[in-house]
Amino acid sequence: MSWKIWKSKEERIKEEYNKAINLRDQGKLSKAVEKLEKVYRMSQEVSDPAIKELGIKAAAVAKIYKAKLGKESLKEVYSFLSSLDHDLILELPNIVRVGDIVQELKVLVKDSSKLASSAELEKLAKEYLSLGRDKLLLSDILGINIEPKKMAYILYGEAKRLIAESKERENPEESAKIYSEALHYFELAGDKNKVAILSQKISKLTKVMKCYICGRTLQGEETHFLYVRAATTPYMMRHLSSENPKAITNDGAIALCITCYTAISILAQAMAEAKVMQYYSSMMMRINELEKRVSKLESNSWFFSGGSNNDDTNYYWHRRGRIFSRD
Ligand SMILES: [Zn+2]
Repeated sequence: MSWKIWKSKEERIKEEYNKAINLRDQGKLSKAVEKLEKVYRMSQEVSDPAIKELGIKAAAVAKIYKAKLGKESLKEVYSFLSSLDHDLILELPNIVRVGDIVQELKVLVKDSSKLASSAELEKLAKEYLSLGRDKLLLSDILGINIEPKKMAYILYGEAKRLIAESKERENPEESAKIYSEALHYFELAGDKNKVAILSQKISKLTKVMKCYICGRTLQGEETHFLYVRAATTPYMMRHLSSENPKAITNDGAIALCITCYTAISILAQAMAEAKVMQYYSSMMMRINELEKRVSKLESNSWFFSGGSNNDDTNYYWHRRGRIFSRD
């Protein structure tokens, strides 16, 4: 009977790898990462291709768990994994292909950068859709609560919303049409809040009214016309409420195109400012007059009160001084 005491380096590497996986399964991620990195270092010293591959797997798994521990950025993990053979299989513990993880990481890294244009948002939406799954392979490992399809619809919706917004002033009809497309995507994504906001936007943008002042027919409440409170009479309501398009609403507000509204606002503001300036000038003149009278009064009071210590006498001359100063 013989006991095998000596173990080859290859065997020790396999043992270390299994220990690392056990630690991972027990939730001891930091220790698991240390072991996995050790496996990778040890694998560099052997020539067995299977062991070398095990080392690379260990390094890849370590990178992913380091991202979970906040010790590596997704960008760093993406950069490392994309340099590996994409057909390499990892156990996380679910079996995944490196290529599939790389594809997810590429999208997540792009999503974490600032995207401003509708074209960038649409491109990212396409990439989320191209993942072809409802749940990310990395979602449980990294705790990322993103549903790729839902995210794609949100991004498409956001891209359309940006385009629609840029066309509101130029073409309200086309803008409303694009807002409807955006709304459709938010419906698919189940974003009730965005659906409610866009429904209201579309309703306002498709509204047509006639300006009460210039009589022009315009589309797009709040962009091209707005409602203003004004005095109305039952006679006006009777005659104007039935017009199509309307210039007056059923509750007595009138529609003004932005041009008429701003012309009135600017004029009203200029008139108010002129009035304030007029009040200010007249107040300043009055203050100057009062200052002159007060200083004259003070000089008279000083003269008359100078020779007496009697308070009553001072008061008398003080009063006299005020009377004299009026002359
Ligand atoms: Zn007008």
